[in-house]
Amino acid sequence: MSKAVECIKCQAQMELGYVPDGTHGGYTQQGWFPGVPVKSFWMGLKMETNQLVPVTTFRCPNCGYLESYALPNATPATTVTEA
Ligand SMILES: [Zn+2]
Repeated sequence: MSKAVECIKCQAQMELGYVPDGTHGGYTQQGWFPGVPVKSFWMGLKMETNQLVPVTTFRCPNCGYLESYALPNATPATTVTEA
């Protein structure tokens, strides 16, 4: 995704970013998983890390509107630890 994204509310050019998720080891990029969440005794939620799609979020600097995209090849997550 290289083209500029315009805010649907006020047509300002949106900034690329992401929403961090807190983990025990620090922060990681928010991800999207298919299906419904399944509880795991050990991990909180049971999930296949190879199905994670990193979520890229654009922010409007004018009105603060957020727009998120889950694209596999948009921005590589820096720290996705394999279980
Ligand atoms: Zn806006």
